[in-house]
Amino acid sequence: MAEGRIELAKARILVTNDDGIESPGIKLLEEMARALSSDVWIVAPEQEQSAASHSLTTRRPLRMAEVAPQRYAVDGTPTDCVMLAVKHLLRERRPELVLSGINGGGNVGEDLTYSGTVAAAMEATLLDIPAIALSQHFVDGEPICWETAARFAPGVIRRLTQLPWPEHTLMNVNFPDEAPQAVRGIAVTSQGKRAIADNLTERLDPRGRPYYWIGPVREDGIAEPGTDLAAINDKRVSVTPIYLNLTNVPVLASLKKVFG
Ligand code: MN
Repeated sequence: MAEGRIELAKARILVTNDDGIESPGIKLLEEMARALSSDVWIVAPEQEQSAASHSLTTRRPLRMAEVAPQRYAVDGTPTDCVMLAVKHLLRERRPELVLSGINGGGNVGEDLTYSGTVAAAMEATLLDIPAIALSQHFVDGEPICWETAARFAPGVIRRLTQLPWPEHTLMNVNFPDEAPQAVRGIAVTSQGKRAIADNLTERLDPRGRPYYWIGPVREDGIAEPGTDLAAINDKRVSVTPIYLNLTNVPVLASLKKVFG
């Protein structure tokens, strides 16, 4: 059960992501995990699965290939990876911690509902395993400042795992697109909401037929204070506890008046 502190040095750590097993972010996270514990397993998608959300592959078989010792590539989604790892590969001894990322690109505001990075942490949470999703912001076309995640992630992971882990909760960590020395600290935040500008492109293909391309997200307006969006704009590392029971509790009472 997800209770009590995690003894990192003895912990079995599962590392996964949605950018794919060959991405630089997961290699960085693997290095960090190996510095924390000697029992690290990588189970990650063979191909990029960004924006796969919490999807599960149920209508075709899944293959898992051992690409190196304790390192497996799955031809599925991040959720498939966590499920195969916990329920099959590591069933004799489940991981005590799941780390997902480090994603190339932020996961804040409504990104959480699309993110495969966060979904892997959701799956772990559903399986009662503490999980942390980690994402490094960057601007399209510019190099990703992995040094910032490298500098701050180990400390954040250590501090989070020293807490008694809250029930049904994953931790969503975002690193701002700044050099490490420009980062202004760590902020505990709530999930924000963007005012999203037009992010759908319509063009013509070489045969003159229209096609559509979703993204990238273009933001409009000012982030609400206290949110993940505001923290990132303010050059801070954002740490958000995400609760997986989706019930809007305050609405229960008014609904019960109507239906009860
Ligand atoms: Mn991704």
